[in-house]
Amino acid sequence: MTEYEPVIGLEIHVQLKTRTKMFCGCELSFGDSPNIHTCPVCLGLPGALPVVNERAIRFGMMIGLALGCEIAERSLFHRKNYFYPDLPKGYQISQYDVPLCRGGRLGDVRIHRVHLEEDAAKLNHLGASGRIHGSDRSWVDFNRGGTPLVEIVTEPDIHSPEQAREWLSLLRTTLKQIGVSDVNMEEGSLRCDANVSVRPAGSAVLGTKTELKNMNSFRFLERGVRAEIQRQIGLIEAGEAVVQETLHYDPVSGGITPLRSKEEAHDYRYFPEPDLVPLVATDAMLAAAREALPAELPAERAARFERELGLSAGRARDLAFRADLADYFERALAAGAADGGVDPVELSNWIPQLVERIGSDRDPAESNVAPESLAALATMVKAREVSRDAAREVLSRLVADGGDPRAIVAREGLGALSAEDDGLGELVDRAIASDPAAAEQVRAGNLKAIGPLVGYVMRETKGRADGATITRLIRERVRQAG
Ligand code: ADP
Ligand code: MG
Ligand code: ZN
Repeated sequence: MTEYEPVIGLEIHVQLKTRTKMFCGCELSFGDSPNIHTCPVCLGLPGALPVVNERAIRFGMMIGLALGCEIAERSLFHRKNYFYPDLPKGYQISQYDVPLCRGGRLGDVRIHRVHLEEDAAKLNHLGASGRIHGSDRSWVDFNRGGTPLVEIVTEPDIHSPEQAREWLSLLRTTLKQIGVSDVNMEEGSLRCDANVSVRPAGSAVLGTKTELKNMNSFRFLERGVRAEIQRQIGLIEAGEAVVQETLHYDPVSGGITPLRSKEEAHDYRYFPEPDLVPLVATDAMLAAAREALPAELPAERAARFERELGLSAGRARDLAFRADLADYFERALAAGAADGGVDPVELSNWIPQLVERIGSDRDPAESNVAPESLAALATMVKAREVSRDAAREVLSRLVADGGDPRAIVAREGLGALSAEDDGLGELVDRAIASDPAAAEQVRAGNLKAIGPLVGYVMRETKGRADGATITRLIRERVRQAG
C-alpha cells in the first residue's frame, strides 16, 4: 500500500490592533452599533482619498522582523478588483507583486510573504427571520470595512494536521507577544486558510492542492485538514484525481463541500493604486519597529528551554508556544531556585498534568495552584519524599482548594513510606505470604514474576511507596528466606 505525505501551506489574516482604519481616521470597533464608524473613504464615495496608517505599517514591519523576513525598501499598494456588497469601492487595496516583506521563517516553517491590506465590511445574513418580500435579508455593517490586515503566507512546509495546529499556535503566541493584534480566532482577528495536498511519501513533486477557507479555531483547523487529507487519499486510491478548488469544512458535520473551482477563480485585474505613493521603508521606521519588539520571542524561548534547561524539544515547544504556560513555568522555576533548587525537567513534567486538571484553555496563573506550590511538589517527588501517585493526588487537591503541598502531605499522611518503615517491611512480608508461587519464581531468578507482589504492596499503601524501593525490599526478603 502506498504511503502518503500530506503537504500543507497556510494563509493567515491578522487584524491589526491600531486605533484607526488602514486608510482613514475612523476608529476600529468590535461590537459597536453598526455603521457608526464610517467616512467617505471607507464607504468608497467617489473622490475620497486614502491615507496610509503609519502604525499599521510599523506593525507590519514588526511582524516581518519577528518572522525574519526581508523588508522591502519600497513596496506597492494595488487595487484588487471585484464586486461584492461588503466592498463599496469595488476593489480592495492590497499588496500584490511587491509586498512589504518576503522570505523568513518561524520554527520549522518558511514564510513566503507578508503584506498589508484592508478588510471588507461585514455582511450579516438574517435568514428566514428577516425575510422581506419572501426572501432572506442581509445587511452590511461598514464598521469593519477598511480595518488594517496583515496577510502572512507560508511555504508548503507543514506535513501533518497536528503540526499545522502547533505552528499556528506558535504564530499566534508570537503575534500576541509583539502586541500587534488581539489574535482572537472566534472574533475573527486571526483567520486561517489551509492549502492541502498529498503525495506519495518520498516524492519531490507537489500534488494538486485544495484550499480550506476560514478555519476559525485551532481544533477545527486540525480536524478539517485531517478530513481533507483523508478525502484526497480516498480519491487517489479510487483512481480519481484531486480537483483544485476552494472548500468549506463544516466542523459540526465534519463534511467538506466545494465553494468554487479553479475555473471560477477571479481575475482581479490588479493594478497599482493611483491614489497612494509607494511605501518607502526608511531607516527610522525600521529602527522604530525593531525597537518595539520584545527581547525574546516564543521560538527563541523554546530553544533556550531546550539548550539551558535540558527540556526535550517537544516539551520546550509545548511550554514556549503558549506564553501563559511558559511564564508560569519560569515563575515556578524561580520560586524553586529560591527554595534550594528544583529540577527543571521534573518541574516541566507537572505542567501538562496541571493543564489537564484545570482545562487546556485556562492560564495556570489564574488557578489555585501557586507556582511555588508546584515547584515544592516537584522537589518532593524528586527527593522521593512523596511517590508519584501520591503527588498526583496532592496536585488534584491543590487544584481544588489551593494550599501548601507539604502541609497537605503531612495532614493527609501521603508522605512516602521509606524502606526503613516497619509498616512497609510488614506489607512486603504479607505480599510474599499471599503468593508463595510468585515468590518462589522470583527466588529462582524469574524477575517478571515480581509484578503481582509489587502490585500488592502498591495497592495496600495506596501508592505511597516508591516502586523501586518495594522491588528492592521484595528481592532482599525473598533471598533471605531462601
Ligand atoms: P494561489 O495562487 O492558489 O494562492 P500560492 O502558490 O500563492 O497559490 O500558494 C498559496 C498557499 O498554498 C501557500 O501557503 C503555499 O505554501 C500553499 N501551497 C502551494 N502549493 C501547494 C501544494 N501543492 N500543496 C499544499 N500547499 C500548497
Ligand atoms: Mg492564495
Ligand atoms: Zn473611514
